[in-house]
Amino acid sequence: MEAKKVLEDLKRRFPNEPEYHQALEEVLPTIEEEYNKHPEFEKANLIERLCIPDRIYQFRVTWTDDQGQVQTNMGYRVQHNNAIGPYKGGIRFHRSVNLGILKFLAFEQTFKNSLTTLPMGGGKGGSDFSPRGKSNAEVMRFCQAFLLELTRHIGPDVDVPAGDIGVGGREVGYMFGMYKKLTHEFSGVLTGKGLEFGGSLIRPEATGYGNVYFLQEMLKTKGESVKGKRVLISGAGNVAQYTAEKVLELGGTVLTMSDSDGYIYDPDGIDREKLDYIMELKQVMRGRIKEYVDQYPTAKYVEGARPWGEVADIALPSATQNEISEEEAKTLVANGVMAVSEGANMPSTPGAIRVFQEAKIFYAPGKASNAGGVSVSGLEMSQNSGRISWSAEEVDSKLHWIMENIHANCVKYGTEPDGYVNYVKGANVAGFMKVAKAMMAQGIV
Ligand code: NDP
Repeated sequence: MEAKKVLEDLKRRFPNEPEYHQALEEVLPTIEEEYNKHPEFEKANLIERLCIPDRIYQFRVTWTDDQGQVQTNMGYRVQHNNAIGPYKGGIRFHRSVNLGILKFLAFEQTFKNSLTTLPMGGGKGGSDFSPRGKSNAEVMRFCQAFLLELTRHIGPDVDVPAGDIGVGGREVGYMFGMYKKLTHEFSGVLTGKGLEFGGSLIRPEATGYGNVYFLQEMLKTKGESVKGKRVLISGAGNVAQYTAEKVLELGGTVLTMSDSDGYIYDPDGIDREKLDYIMELKQVMRGRIKEYVDQYPTAKYVEGARPWGEVADIALPSATQNEISEEEAKTLVANGVMAVSEGANMPSTPGAIRVFQEAKIFYAPGKASNAGGVSVSGLEMSQNSGRISWSAEEVDSKLHWIMENIHANCVKYGTEPDGYVNYVKGANVAGFMKVAKAMMAQGIV
């Protein structure tokens, strides 16, 4: 396999999908060497079969808003690869959603799920519906309309969606209700469910906590810890909130949070009480992050900007893809940032990744560092199948073990001759090998 050629060919066949191309471009060169050690892979054209999704569903979603207007949105589910388990991956509701973005996310998800050690294949879905500014009733009607179509493509042993941007406990609950109504069946078809109906303790916290556990493992290799470190966090949603919670618990200082309109910087640090305010603001009031400065006037709000210009020791991007440019990466490095651990999926642009790796600071790609979310989703599936529920301590300790194990695998496959750990390569090779072996064993299907 020649990574460059494969890429060119896939770009030609699937044009106008820049995020999908970007994800392929990040992975293929890093697995090329390992892939070519196995001539049997090339004979089975494993690389194209791994890059091109098994199947994609696209459909129109029609719903009625509170004014009685009939609205249409697009719905998608990308079932990327089920070699090691049922398709598994979140649902994203955001106006920017398109097929290329979901293909990138489903591709990444396949490697990520493989890294978790749990039996889950990769998938992703969503819609260009934006829950922002919508009433509860509108969100419910949209979720129901979306499930009217999606239901025929998912199932507890087929494809198990979860949350992502714009899809939290409220949306999962509405989707679960509709699935149950349509199938007349109570099953573990979605994860991220409410605790009263099959959800797992620690699932809301899992992605953020998992990212900080991964960060801890990286820092440990140089005898460092989170204690006393100044941390920049982007986003103010699920991942950002629980990342902040864990950083605080470990004695770090959280300086920033953001949303798509701007960021807040609190020179005194966002402490537990302030974080509780943000959680209430985002989860209950569904407000905007700029409201923080009305409550805490010593903080500043910077409209239309991202937090990467602020001085800190650690950056934890937790909002969306391509939210750190090459220039911003240079600023972070110049300001002395020692570690970047991704809570979001693909938040660093290719140029930014180059800057981090050339500066030889710790850099963890999302498919390794944010795998805690899907890991606890996997644990939710196990609990649903066994009709049991584990304590928070039990789930948290399993999550901790999984993140340590992912870190160890990255070190195993990603350590370079000078001792620098290329976590991108480590995660890609480790994730790839398991899926590749499973695909080979299952024949040409
Ligand atoms: P939420 O919807 O809960 O929060 C998303 C946050 O990011 C919001 O503050 C949102 O601001 C901001 N954001 C979204 N889009 C943009 C944008 N285009 N530019 C700037 N800010 C933006 O989502 P999650 O916290 O669940 O997801 C955040 C990231 O983490 C995503 O990349 C997701 O794929 C990834 N992830 C999530 C997992 C999970 O378990 N939830 C698991 C693994 C990865 P606004 O309100 O203005 O839109």
